[in-house]
Amino acid sequence: MKLHWQILLAIGLAVVVGSLLEPEHGIGSFTFLSLFNFLGTLFLNALHMIVVPLIVSSIICGVASAGAGQNLGRIGLKTIGLYTLSTLLAVLMGLFLVNLTSPGIIDGQAAGEQLNLSSKEELESSLSKVEGRSGGDIAGIFLRMIPTNVVASAAKGDMLGLIVFSLLFGVFMLRVSAQYSATLKNFWQGVFEVMMAMTMFVMRLAPLGVFGLVAKTIMSTGFAAFGPLLVFFFTVVAALLLHTFVSLALMLRMIGGINPLKHYRAMIPAMLTAFSTASSSATLPVTIECLEKNAGVSNRTSSFVLPLGATINMDGTALYECAAALFIAQAYGLDLSFTQQFLVVVLALLTSIGVAGIPAASLVAISVILTAVGLPLEGIGLLLVTDRILDMMRTAVNVFSDSCCAVIVASTEGETGLYGRAKNTE
Ligand code: ASP
Repeated sequence: MKLHWQILLAIGLAVVVGSLLEPEHGIGSFTFLSLFNFLGTLFLNALHMIVVPLIVSSIICGVASAGAGQNLGRIGLKTIGLYTLSTLLAVLMGLFLVNLTSPGIIDGQAAGEQLNLSSKEELESSLSKVEGRSGGDIAGIFLRMIPTNVVASAAKGDMLGLIVFSLLFGVFMLRVSAQYSATLKNFWQGVFEVMMAMTMFVMRLAPLGVFGLVAKTIMSTGFAAFGPLLVFFFTVVAALLLHTFVSLALMLRMIGGINPLKHYRAMIPAMLTAFSTASSSATLPVTIECLEKNAGVSNRTSSFVLPLGATINMDGTALYECAAALFIAQAYGLDLSFTQQFLVVVLALLTSIGVAGIPAASLVAISVILTAVGLPLEGIGLLLVTDRILDMMRTAVNVFSDSCCAVIVASTEGETGLYGRAKNTE
């Protein structure tokens, strides 16, 4: 059976098992929840283990093969342009749908009190898990791009600093004398190949790991508490779906001349992994593999565009941040002026760059937005109940959007091997 069917089956099974079992079910003192947690964490750890050497080696190789000259500048500009466009479309989709459905208003009244507010402790513990790893104010995001200690950045999983260091390393590696640059190029290419081979190995465990992660989430989140938040939940889901199947499909077709259906098919394993891990960083190895093996994008493009995207391009996250901020404003009965809504859009765009590719990282960025437009921070409590499931979905969109931009770059750069198209058309 193909891997994506195995993963899909694991997700289906996990949903059934997770809804049938209660967290305390088990044999003696041993609970099924701890077993699922163990399986999921093992898989996540294995993916995380690969990420730092993968990001460094893939960016260095990507920069080296694009060359330090005009090619790199052109590909870099295209990449940033596409990432900005796709994120902007995502935020606008969120803005539009939340204004349409008004999930924070029930029977014409601000719904703050009817909604299930989480306790202060829950809020603090959720925020403390991601604190210092993402978001921060806008100036902070730019400061983090230049790390004072690149080893510390790697240890903390601060990818932004690592990316900038690797980009510079790749550029300057080409400028030292040929004897050194050739050795270094060979070395980093070797590291990259090994990391990809390790990814394939880890992915054999994916169905088991995915089962553990999803079953654990369903068991501990449950659906009962969703009630009052249903409108918000479905508004975000609808916006994410519309962005994936309309906005991104149009970008693929109109800018890249690519058949979106082929691209969806190519990226299924990466989207399923993103969905179950809720971490774009952890999914990066799988995204690279799908894009190269299934979509036929060259290593030169994918190794440069994807690691950058996994960190700075987060369409699902930006959409969610915007929708969440507006929802909180509605729930507290605060009418945001046009300027404030515009500020939310800009901030969602900018803060999504700094959000780390780890579970629940958006919550910190949302707190930055709330503070900036003068909304109560406790509002984040409204989001906790549905956050994990929406996190899984927005992460899948984050990863999918990276892959769309990468394949558009490949296509506009004249790559001919996409989706098994004949390599030698001349
Ligand atoms: N979990 C998301 C990701 O890894 C980030 C977030 O929106 O919380 O892409």
